[in-house]
Amino acid sequence: MNRVLVATAEQSLLRLAGGVLTQLERGVAPVLSEEEILQGLHRDDTDLLLLDRRLPGLEERALLRRLAADPLAAEVPVVLVGGFGGHEEQLELLDAGASEFVALPVDPGALAVRLKTVLRTVGHLDRIKAQALIDELTGVYNRRYLDGRLSAQFGEARRYRHPFSFILLDLDHFKKVNDTLGHQFGDLVLRQTARLIRAQLRGEDMLTRYGGEEFALLLPHTDLEGALILAERVRLSVAEYRFVQGESQVRITVSQGIAAYPEKDFTSTSELIACVDERLYQAKDAGRNCLVYR
Ligand code: GH3
Ligand code: MG
Ligand code: MG
Repeated sequence: MNRVLVATAEQSLLRLAGGVLTQLERGVAPVLSEEEILQGLHRDDTDLLLLDRRLPGLEERALLRRLAADPLAAEVPVVLVGGFGGHEEQLELLDAGASEFVALPVDPGALAVRLKTVLRTVGHLDRIKAQALIDELTGVYNRRYLDGRLSAQFGEARRYRHPFSFILLDLDHFKKVNDTLGHQFGDLVLRQTARLIRAQLRGEDMLTRYGGEEFALLLPHTDLEGALILAERVRLSVAEYRFVQGESQVRITVSQGIAAYPEKDFTSTSELIACVDERLYQAKDAGRNCLVYR
């Protein structure tokens, strides 16, 4: 369930918002400081910020400016609760980045309608964004999504010295499947391979279709040892599977190039990708159906 940040020191507003948001199927995350607000907005599952203008220590204009300039926070709509001077002031606040207003004293019906309309737009946008980031054939994320996530993962890993691993996986002799059994069967093999891989992953792990018959796996908080265990499970589950369509059936294998940070101290994501690419090539050279990790 996605959540709404409720920035207020007023228990009555928190309770009221809680009731309304439960009906709108959103969780409530109470926050009290600008830092907590920013951290909350950086989470993927935050849909909206309900900001009480009476929040102690709040510098409203500075905060709105800061949010507008922050690429992760800027996408989350802000609904302000408070007293408003009039039309002029509301226009200024809209211009500064606010999406909606709820006047004091808070009328529960008005609060519900305002939150509902803003959340409806958030829902539309989320669906459009998801479509733009999902590969149609296999239903896993596409390369565009990977590029963004990989940069973020790399930045975080370098800042906090967290480990992470990256695997590039390519189907072996896949052209032969297309050539002998047809492109449709080839598509089915791609879809089912994506499912076999996904079945081996944890919630945090991310599978993307990297290219035609190549998949990339991003494994946060996973060192080389962990990545190798997963890669071997993936290798076996694909190799042991029989792909069947009508009267035809086929077995396939996959080759994988694997790298882990900080086991190898990459300085950029392109260096990391070049490395797994080279290792994948070596895995092909070594006879396929294997892992290369150094
Ligand atoms: P290798 O073991 O060296 O990787 O050999 P390969 O035959 O898998 O490699 P190659 O790069 O020669 O061929 C990849 C094939 O993947 C060629 C292309 O027709 C096929 N392919 C790419 N995208 C799709 C797709 O969406 N559907 C189907 N059916 N085939 C695809
Ligand atoms: Mg291939
Ligand atoms: Mg290939």
